[in-house]
Amino acid sequence: MGGTNYMSASSYSGRYGAELIETAARITAPGKGILAADESTGTIGKRLSSIGVPNEEQNRRQLRELLFTAPGIEDHISGVILFEETLYQPAADGTPFADILKSKGIIPGIKVDKGVVPLPDTDGETTTQGFDDLGKRCAKYYEQGARFAKWRAVLKISASAPSPLAIHENAYGLARYASICQENGLVPIVEPEILTDGTHSIEVCAAATERVLAAVYKALSDHKVLLEGTLLKPNMVSAGIDTTPASTQEIAKLTVRALQRTVPAAVPGIVFLSGGQSEEDASVNLDAMNKLSTRRPWALTFSYGRALQASALKAWGGKPENIKASQEAFMTRAQANGAASMGKYKMDANGRSLGHTDSLHEKDYKY
Ligand code: 13P
Repeated sequence: MGGTNYMSASSYSGRYGAELIETAARITAPGKGILAADESTGTIGKRLSSIGVPNEEQNRRQLRELLFTAPGIEDHISGVILFEETLYQPAADGTPFADILKSKGIIPGIKVDKGVVPLPDTDGETTTQGFDDLGKRCAKYYEQGARFAKWRAVLKISASAPSPLAIHENAYGLARYASICQENGLVPIVEPEILTDGTHSIEVCAAATERVLAAVYKALSDHKVLLEGTLLKPNMVSAGIDTTPASTQEIAKLTVRALQRTVPAAVPGIVFLSGGQSEEDASVNLDAMNKLSTRRPWALTFSYGRALQASALKAWGGKPENIKASQEAFMTRAQANGAASMGKYKMDANGRSLGHTDSLHEKDYKY
């Protein structure tokens, strides 16, 4: 063999291999998905101000506590992504949130990126920061009970974007992050989000999504990331927010086709972001993908922020007497998305949809 080393490309050599695979499998258990509750302090502040509640630590705690203690949450939610503050925060009775989640069999996760910064001389494209001390931070988060992590890379569509530079930079950033997580026992959620801002067609989004995902899996391979111990968090393929929307069927077909063309079957699950879709659209589109009769080697489920929390936030309004109604609103979405992840989402008895249809889009979305 001329001295060539034929060792497998994914030669993950860390000590957590079996645990990473098990964690990823538990997160993608049938009928379950992820609650993304890892809004940074600035982003959660916007949510709270929309209901007239000040952005104070105890208000952030109350909102997170009502979600995590919603009766039955563990039936549909397998993992919750936390912001660092919440991972170390106790609930009102002094129990750390990480322990509350674990006691329900829900896996705590942690956002580890530090937001995006501009890539100079591009059309407003960005790269994600957060590598300083990332290994040390991951080890600390593992000790505190976290078993998976999230890093959000952001791409956009315009005449010149996503540019080859932004695609390369973000793919290798995600791969380096994934490798550091796996060294420290955390399953990396690999999130290359293409924003819906723009007037592009769904075909343009499909082509951009395929280019981005192909680059991401090349980079993960180069970094010898153990794919069986990762999850992908992509955008759904859709038309730009400022043009005629594509149909549910088109979204489902072009999204699954883009994934089939680029995501290896070794990846256990794909957990979509909601990306500004209404609560109802996020459920219906996920359901449609799971109803397609086509090859699907990975679980297709959810890791929604806005589409799981919007109604609950409104119902709460910051008032203790509304906690029960808010938890019920949250559970309605959790249940709907759990069903959608199995292609079993149902309308109500009158054929009406159950979720709100208001768009949750925010231009140039920061998390
Ligand atoms: P949305 O579902 O609100 O898009 O947010 C999910 C998320 O975690 C973004 O990183």
